[in-house]
Amino acid sequence: MDEGHHHHHGGDFDARLTACGVAEPVRTYLSQCAQFHSSPAPGLLIGAFMVDYALELLGANPDEKLFSVCETPKCLPDAPQVIAHSTTGNGRLKVIPIGRFALTMNRASTDKTADGFRVYVDQEKIKAFPIIDKWFSNSPEFNKHTMGTNLQEQILAAGRKLLSYENVRVPVTLKETWQPVTCPSCKETVPDYLVIDGKCGACGPMKYYEKR
Ligand SMILES: [Zn+2]
Repeated sequence: MDEGHHHHHGGDFDARLTACGVAEPVRTYLSQCAQFHSSPAPGLLIGAFMVDYALELLGANPDEKLFSVCETPKCLPDAPQVIAHSTTGNGRLKVIPIGRFALTMNRASTDKTADGFRVYVDQEKIKAFPIIDKWFSNSPEFNKHTMGTNLQEQILAAGRKLLSYENVRVPVTLKETWQPVTCPSCKETVPDYLVIDGKCGACGPMKYYEKR
């Protein structure tokens, strides 16, 4: 699902969007996503169509306060970040690494749950798009060097024709109340709910660096 070393040349991709006759607002979404991601990666492009579809199902404007959940960390999360301003930083994007190419979006809610829509790549519908199907299933028949452009064009032509959706309800997570705790090991301060066995995560099981 990645484009390896192929970096994004905005002009080329924008020209292809025009050549493929992609309509607004998706055209702008696709262009902005490719710019942000640094390449028009296939999963990102499908993701932009998914967000556009979810926005329409919600009847939402991308500038509203919207929450997104992505079921894969690959490419997809950049689409709701760019288009709907659901970011990891503002707490409105959750990425669950379960490997399904799917996205759920909902509005803010004061209830314990919120109604939303889950948009996913439909395994029946994708069969109508053989190149996308080969790429998506990681088939050895897919060659990104010879088929990359065709894949991109097929994704732009398919739009949401390979997607389906379902009505879902998601729990609303309340803002956690917390107290500061100073880690006895590193002396840095963390919220109490992130303390593991009396220490901060980095001094425990979530250690990710060594001092040099
Ligand atoms: Zn610590």
